[in-house]
Amino acid sequence: MNEPIQKAASLPITITGMTKVYGKAYALDHIDLSVRSGEFLTLLGPSGSGKTTLLMTIAGFTRPDSGSLKFGETEVICTPPHKREVGMVFQSYALFPHMTVAGNIAFPLSLRRLPRDEIAQRVERALETVQLGGYGERGIAQLSGGQRQRVALARAIVFEPRILLMDEPLSALDKKLREHMQIELRHLHDKLGMTTVYVTHDQREALTMSDRIAVINQGRLMQLGEPKALYERPANRFVADFIGDSTFLPVENSGSQARCHGRLLDLPTDTAIRANSYLMLRPEKLQLLAGEAQAGMNMFMGTIQSIVYQGDSVLTQIALADGQLINMRSATQSDALTPAVGSAITLGLAREDTVLVSDE
Ligand code: ADP
Ligand code: MG
Repeated sequence: MNEPIQKAASLPITITGMTKVYGKAYALDHIDLSVRSGEFLTLLGPSGSGKTTLLMTIAGFTRPDSGSLKFGETEVICTPPHKREVGMVFQSYALFPHMTVAGNIAFPLSLRRLPRDEIAQRVERALETVQLGGYGERGIAQLSGGQRQRVALARAIVFEPRILLMDEPLSALDKKLREHMQIELRHLHDKLGMTTVYVTHDQREALTMSDRIAVINQGRLMQLGEPKALYERPANRFVADFIGDSTFLPVENSGSQARCHGRLLDLPTDTAIRANSYLMLRPEKLQLLAGEAQAGMNMFMGTIQSIVYQGDSVLTQIALADGQLINMRSATQSDALTPAVGSAITLGLAREDTVLVSDE
């Protein structure tokens, strides 16, 4: 029978000085980015930040104004898209509605003029790989959203590209199916091993799927790192704000010390205290303290404004003395342990979770 597609040799991608200007606006502003061989790298950023433009320049559909693009050691900036041997899944799937599933998947192979029986074999293999074995003769209109997404994926991998590009491929699916497909796409990547550049504006999706994430804003690379590093040690306020939920409190700095809400902050030793720094407060890093000072713990006084039960956790909103609202997320616990709305409480933030960020 047909074996699913096996692991192929992958290629690193090296992007240097990639720039694209539309009118006067920089869609890409001197992007330097290296994607490791076999890596799953995600471009994450808000709408209009340049993610699609960058992906399209890698695929060859958009011509940058300047910059270099290498697949392995080979400069490909002047290579037309069909010669780059890159598999691509578009946001809209871009399937041919009048063709069968098999016809759609065969398309890139027909373009490459492969013999008929080899095409049939490869199509069936690609269908097995995306778990749609036996669906070849169906019409596209007969498929669900998730199945169409798999057909688009099968078409992208059917010629066994060494680089796979995906532009928000799950954005049209509902939450449950999307989460299921995130895991499935990641498994497929691990099985096939092709260098993958994935685009999303959904930070949770990026954190779930990626080896590394490149955060993009206004055509510029804001930070490149592993999910945990981005979440725990964001390089600047934009990244801290875009990934996870945070409240930012202004910090006054005096020499090597930083104060927040009148109190001296106990900071990890490697903290750089810059001008215009903010303290990043993540809801799940805050905890209720009994009141007395504790070593290695920064304290904040406040009053509970609201408590919202959210099933898997409890979200408590707290007002600090100056009225600044902050959120604390804690595990669902018995009501007896939760102070009531209106209670004065002390919040603690451990020294190692005390992170300062600045605008640049
Ligand atoms: P994203 O995929 O992150 O949402 P895009 O790469 O599509 O962002 O767009 C980046 C910026 O470039 C946006 O400001 C967008 O309006 C602009 N842009 C993209 N494509 C074109 C185009 N063909 N003509 C003019 N402006 C464009
Ligand atoms: Mg886009």
